[in-house]
Amino acid sequence: MNITELARRLKITPNELKDELPKLGFHIGPRAIQIPDKQARQVIDLYRQKKEKEQALEKAKKKIVQKKEKEEEKEKKEEKIVRISSTIQVYKLAEKLNLPVVTVMNELIKNGVLSSVNENLDYEIAAIVAQNLGFSVEKGEEEEKETGTLVKQKFQQALKSTDKKELRPRAPVVVVMGHVDHGKSSILSAIREIDMISREKGGITQHIGAYSVTKNDHEVTFIDTPGHEAFESMRARGGEVADIATLVISADDKIQPQTLESIKVIQNEGLPFIVAINKIDKPDADVEKIKKELSEINLTPEDWGGKVITIPVSAKTKQGIEDLLEMINLVAEMHKDTLVTNPNGTLIGTVIESYLDHGYGPVATLILYNGTLRRGENVIIDSSYGRIRSIKDQWGKSLESVGASMPVQIFGLKNVPQVGDIVEVVKNNREFKKRIKQIRISAPAIESSQEKEVSKVPQLKVIVRADVLGSLEAIIHSLEKLEHPEVKIKVVKKGLANITESDVDLSQAAHAWIIGFGVDIGASAKQLAHELRLKISLYSVIYDLIQEVKQEINKLLPEEVEEEELGKVEILKVFQHKGKETIAGGKVVHGKVIKNVLARVWAEGGQELKGEGEISQLQVNKRDVDEVKEGSECGMKFVGNVD
Ligand code: GDP
Repeated sequence: MNITELARRLKITPNELKDELPKLGFHIGPRAIQIPDKQARQVIDLYRQKKEKEQALEKAKKKIVQKKEKEEEKEKKEEKIVRISSTIQVYKLAEKLNLPVVTVMNELIKNGVLSSVNENLDYEIAAIVAQNLGFSVEKGEEEEKETGTLVKQKFQQALKSTDKKELRPRAPVVVVMGHVDHGKSSILSAIREIDMISREKGGITQHIGAYSVTKNDHEVTFIDTPGHEAFESMRARGGEVADIATLVISADDKIQPQTLESIKVIQNEGLPFIVAINKIDKPDADVEKIKKELSEINLTPEDWGGKVITIPVSAKTKQGIEDLLEMINLVAEMHKDTLVTNPNGTLIGTVIESYLDHGYGPVATLILYNGTLRRGENVIIDSSYGRIRSIKDQWGKSLESVGASMPVQIFGLKNVPQVGDIVEVVKNNREFKKRIKQIRISAPAIESSQEKEVSKVPQLKVIVRADVLGSLEAIIHSLEKLEHPEVKIKVVKKGLANITESDVDLSQAAHAWIIGFGVDIGASAKQLAHELRLKISLYSVIYDLIQEVKQEINKLLPEEVEEEELGKVEILKVFQHKGKETIAGGKVVHGKVIKNVLARVWAEGGQELKGEGEISQLQVNKRDVDEVKEGSECGMKFVGNVD
């Protein structure tokens, strides 16, 4: 076979063939122009085998490279994948994303969520925030349980590094939780009354958001948050700051959604708890039925062979209330290892209530876990700061200093801190000034991005005023929950204390509705609102507030269109079709046809929609008419898009 022929068969040049032949084990002279046929066939076989091998190798290499590239890509993606469990606190989310808390908070505001650093976000909102910040989100397992809030974690850390000899016992902080109307507030009042009687001297207690009682020489602090449905967020927070929970279930009712919600908070926080079965004075009270229901959700009462402590009580007759207090003492005794504090340690405490008082300025109720707070000290409370002018207990008595668990009000702050904020004492003056600057810089950044928010859907604008910050937050939280896909609620201003003239001015300018909760209207503001005919609504029951907001939302919903079929016309002939106008003749086969009504055009059989428009003209025998009845023929001008 000619060398050139062989090269052609192998699809290479003769020169390439001459290079290949020795590699395949054939040695022919440089000038040879032919090789024997037998050898040529061997060359062809060997060369093909070699090529196949090379190709296979190449393919394998490619595969490896591709796989590597894919892995690298995946790794890159994984770097940006975050796993988020069903709830996550704002600061935790920031930690996860490795971003400053302010960035996360700004993103939340863009999505209409105003939250504090400690606030728990649902998975849905946390995922949106993370995605908007460029992360892929996966729903993860529940976080390794680091129970409690930032403040509790800080406290636990502080305790770890404390010499055991420094530790002293601390009164338990108790939260009362449960479904609306099951008697939380009544139980809190009953406890307070019993305590006042036992103190003999009576004395007027101030409502500061928490109070301390003494039973058999043991002190117990109760968080006294309002008990209504809308205060869910506050109650959850109560759970976050408390050491022990009391779950109230009414003996004449059953386990209700908020009972389950409270149980979830209790379990999430890992709180020891007692179930108070209330209203046993009522004729239809059935304590055993409640115990049965508890067993059914794996909370089997002690006397049913389980571990859950239940106490039948009546807030009305006060039967069992003393037992409840004794039981709380017992549970505290069981958990005395954690109910400790170092009075000389780092100050760790949190705000449980705050408001603006016209005479005193910003007032905050604190509960400390660690350390001692003294009058005259400089404090930083997340977004607020100040030098403590005075410390008062629940009887309004001034104190020089306060330690763990005793709720106190502090005065002297520059602005109202948020519920849940963490209190720090900064002893060094220079450090204090530096920290104040940081607070001032970070605050406006949040506001400006809030302003940027624009919305296309109809808005219900509101100005909300409430008596205390806790209520205000709870109302805002509930309003957010109410939001309808077709109506947005926009809080144009929120504030504490009575409704002012400037609120009325803003209401006029922004077309916002003023909502007051537990507040009043100043006389001049009232006059102005009356003159401007502006709507101001005052509420003392949050349920009413929410109901009315719901009604307002409904008013803003786009009107629903109801269709009524008048009749059908069969088109017999199309005379003219120009642009949007079609002139046709037809017969009314059913009902009637009226001038200026809307019409749909269907293809024969009524399966395929051809167009929609209006019948703008009707004629019978070339005479204009307004209506044509079944059975008659007519001419029509149809205006609309039709195929
Ligand atoms: P909360 O919403 O859980 O705080 O419930 P409240 O304390 O406001 O009580 C709701 C209603 O139940 C009020 O009308 C109370 O007077 C009533 N109530 C609360 N405790 C008792 C009780 O032990 N016996 C009776 N008969 N009524 C009670």
